Amino acid sequence: MPMYEFLCQACRKRFEAFQHLEERVHRPPCPRCGSARRVEHLISSFYAKTSRKA
Ligand SMILES: [Zn+2]
Repeated sequence: MPMYEFLCQACRKRFEAFQHLEERVHRPPCPRCGSARRVEHLISSFYAKTSRKA
């Protein structure tokens, strides 16, 4: 099962989670604040995310 890296935009927590490919549409809840709404997927899109509009 592959491990993916995520970043919670709400509290800036980076964390890793195992996910099946078919579960990639679901965001795992942040281990710090418990919210999944602001969780960003951090693989090849990492650099694009860093240049996002604030
Ligand atoms: Zn969080």
